[in-house]
Amino acid sequence: MGFVGYGKRIRKAIQEIDKKAKKAYKCPSCSRVAVKRLSNGVWQCRKCRIKFASAAFEFRS
Ligand SMILES: [Zn+2]
Repeated sequence: MGFVGYGKRIRKAIQEIDKKAKKAYKCPSCSRVAVKRLSNGVWQCRKCRIKFASAAFEFRS
């Protein structure tokens, strides 16, 4: 994965970011937990198809 040589703490931090990036978030439009990351800073609700611009690895409405 290209993280060889990094310390344990950094690897853990990367895992945390990864977890947040893969998690589904609550849609501010339809209130369903269906917002997923499309790419860096772009999130989309799978229910109402609305796209949001937010933080790269974490959705903030
Ligand atoms: Zn929605």
